[in-house]
Amino acid sequence: MESNSFDGMEAELREVSVALTIPRSHECLACYVHRMLEFGCHGTQWMLRYQELRAPRATALERRMALLGGYCDCELMMNVFDPNPRFFATDDHGEVIDQPMLACFGVRVGSTQPCSLWLGLPRPYGYPRWW
Ligand SMILES: [Zn+2]
Ligand SMILES: [Zn+2]
Repeated sequence: MESNSFDGMEAELREVSVALTIPRSHECLACYVHRMLEFGCHGTQWMLRYQELRAPRATALERRMALLGGYCDCELMMNVFDPNPRFFATDDHGEVIDQPMLACFGVRVGSTQPCSLWLGLPRPYGYPRWW
């Protein structure tokens, strides 16, 4: 039965990794993607997973984020969501320094807005700040 117990462990590991990549309850898109980038950037995998699990009606999310320069998950964090300096320690140049991540302030389920840990960057004229 050794092979069975190994299979069991594999299944358990798979379950653990799936659980790790589920957005926390009321976790915002920005905090979620920021957290998931620990596992690497694989295109828009994380924003799509968030959309699927938390904001199924935000079907244009990927396209909207691309318009803002978020062509993949790491670019989303570089170009679309900016750490709010009220909550992130920065060095003399205003660059965010490595620090333990604060817990998400939370958003309404179904929303693709960031919580107050993040600021939006200036939008091109005519685009609403968030959708
Ligand atoms: Zn990327
Ligand atoms: Zn958040």
